[in-house]
Amino acid sequence: MLAATRQLVRWLDELGQISDEEARLTRTFLSPAMRRANAQVGRWMQSAGLAVREDGVGNLIGRLEGPTPGAKTLLLGSHLDTVRDAGRFDGPLGVLLPILALQELQRRRIALPYAVEVLGFAEEEGVRFASAYLGSKGYSGQLRAADLAFKDAAGVSVRAALETFAGAPWKAPAAAHRQSNLLGYFEVHIEQGPVLEAEELAVGVVTAIAGQTRGRLTLRGRAGHAGTTPMALRRDALAGAAEVVLAAEALARAVPGLVATVGTLQVKPGAPNVIPGEVVLSLDVRHARDGARTKALRELLATAGRIARRRRLGQEWQITQDNGAVACAPALTRQLGAAVRAVQGRNLELVSGAGHDAVVMAGLTDVAMLFVRCKEGLSHHPDEQAAPADLDAALRVTVEFLSQLRHV
Ligand SMILES: [Zn+2]
Repeated sequence: MLAATRQLVRWLDELGQISDEEARLTRTFLSPAMRRANAQVGRWMQSAGLAVREDGVGNLIGRLEGPTPGAKTLLLGSHLDTVRDAGRFDGPLGVLLPILALQELQRRRIALPYAVEVLGFAEEEGVRFASAYLGSKGYSGQLRAADLAFKDAAGVSVRAALETFAGAPWKAPAAAHRQSNLLGYFEVHIEQGPVLEAEELAVGVVTAIAGQTRGRLTLRGRAGHAGTTPMALRRDALAGAAEVVLAAEALARAVPGLVATVGTLQVKPGAPNVIPGEVVLSLDVRHARDGARTKALRELLATAGRIARRRRLGQEWQITQDNGAVACAPALTRQLGAAVRAVQGRNLELVSGAGHDAVVMAGLTDVAMLFVRCKEGLSHHPDEQAAPADLDAALRVTVEFLSQLRHV
């Protein structure tokens, strides 16, 4: 195992102690713990020879200049904020690992032909303001007025929090770089799913981040007495919803790469002796290709319509969230795949079902992502775990990728 990997394990442990809450890990946007985390990671960046600064939204940036002033820049990073009661790996891994990869390259006396920026984004999880990606949006010049209006539990708006942080009136930040000056953005992240574990692989390459449609389907029947209403005369909204749940599962099982989930059911009036008169169910549909997602959603709503007509139920569909898929850049991803094969022998291509900073960064530059196996696919939980041997593989892949990267 590389000495750098042992250092990485220690840093992840140490950073995992920096929290806004006692006895559990929580770091939210611009909180005292986030300020301490930035200070600590900034010291580690400096120890690796990076020039460190913070931008106007609290992102931590460590820069290593290239051999010539005009050299392009490769961005490497992830987020330093966490969910409540978080694990130590989701986010910080993608910030700390690149620092140590650069240190390892220096140890091997390999000079990169390009400049590098390691980014610790100040906000990705959306915990404090229920609005995600504030850090990467700020860095890439995509922060909009609508993002600033969100308020936290104390009634403080994003704009007010940023003005307090900056000590100056709000001014929308421009993108940190022009697209033409960038080689791309590379993010290392735990998989947050069980596929690498099932394939017995330490790491895999992400080809796309799935698009996602979320909405509420309401089915309306008629409430009635559970004892006196004959079965033939019922319009049971919950029995109809049950058919919709199973139809969603069947469709997703039949279409490769499709996942569909009914996560909540609200049943009204909701009494043991009353026929359910109305059910609202949540539906979450994801696929790596937008066309496949929208087609599946159309089919599913048509099926729900047939179920509703047969059961004489009213039906209403409301979209609450709709994000397109993000494709990772083919050329960067090919080079990353070659680095994975060089270290691990076999590469596995995966689709990310969860969103990441790379989604936003794709609006600025080419993106590539490396997934690291995590125990039982568990994340957003204190038991989140990536084995040191897998971290070692991820570090070796990153060193190989950085040293082999050709201008694309
Ligand atoms: Zn994350």
